Amino acid sequence: MTSSVPSVVSARNLCLTYDTNDGPVHALSNVDLDVRKGDFVSFIGPSGCGKTTFLRVIADLERKTSGDITVNGMTPDEARKARAYGYVFQAAALYPWRTIEKNIALPLEIMGYAKSEQAKRIAQTLDLVNLTGFEKKFPWQLSGGMQQRASIARALAFDADLLLMDEPFGALDEIVRDHLNEQLLKLWKRTNKTICFVTHSIPEAVYLSTKIVVMSPRPGRVTDVIESTLPTERPLDIRETPEFLEIAHRVREGLRAGHSYEE
Ligand code: ADP
Ligand code: MG
Repeated sequence: MTSSVPSVVSARNLCLTYDTNDGPVHALSNVDLDVRKGDFVSFIGPSGCGKTTFLRVIADLERKTSGDITVNGMTPDEARKARAYGYVFQAAALYPWRTIEKNIALPLEIMGYAKSEQAKRIAQTLDLVNLTGFEKKFPWQLSGGMQQRASIARALAFDADLLLMDEPFGALDEIVRDHLNEQLLKLWKRTNKTICFVTHSIPEAVYLSTKIVVMSPRPGRVTDVIESTLPTERPLDIRETPEFLEIAHRVREGLRAGHSYEE
């Protein structure tokens, strides 16, 4: 399919096999996928279906075994060197001995940004995630949800157009997660980022995404790609509309179809 919207991530016949002592593990098998500029793409599937592996290939933390992948039209290696993305891990992964502002500053320090530029970016990103005023706090002084927002701020500090988020809200309770989902959607709209988001939660995937990629394990492959028909304006109670439930149903069907019952 052709489109005038630029492709941010493009995978063709992408395969990745891990060599282990127990033999090869086919983590990704013939993945074809396009993520376009401004998309919010969720990856959903059972544990072990290759979701993290796919993000890690985009980020150049793993190398493909065969097939093709480009990130902003470059190889993952070139994209990494061009700082094409920010990465948010499942656990907030903040350094406990550094304050929130020093945590956000770390990648900027490594990149050699001037102090004044660092300060400007820290203020901007803390504002984006509603954490202004918490600069001098240590991670352990913040709630789990706030820590995860600080970790998002750190990923935003480079102002990369692409955000890779691996189950960022997986460890949070549902009320906090709802709130962060709402905030993330607003942030995405305000900043025009492209987001690749891994989740286990069907409602979270449907609520957030413009596109939902359903995956299945052994070998990890894409079983369905759903283009969302929901409007971009999404109050939380959109989750009770027939349109929402219809998409959730299709995700569930995709997950079921990909499930192997042989075990
Ligand atoms: P997910 O994030 O969907 O749970 P992963 O991408 O982490 O799945 O893993 C996909 C498959 O690859 C799993 O079977 C996992 O055990 C295996 N795997 C992941 N990383 C490695 C590795 N470094 N070495 C060997 N096998 C791995
Ligand atoms: Mg994972």
